[in-house]
Amino acid sequence: MPDTPEQLVCATCGRTAPADGEALVAWARGVEHRREVWTCDVCSREYLRSIEGKLDSGWW
Ligand SMILES: [Zn+2]
Repeated sequence: MPDTPEQLVCATCGRTAPADGEALVAWARGVEHRREVWTCDVCSREYLRSIEGKLDSGWW
């Protein structure tokens, strides 16, 4: 693994956040294809709403 700086990139909208610890609390971490993926607070909210609305996961 390359020693890259910890810059978070939202896998959904491409928003970036500095890994200063504050953003990390609001961001959701997931694992996809054995890779770490992050979702920003905004997208997490949208995502949750979609789950509650029982949208087809293929929509993503
Ligand atoms: Zn996002």
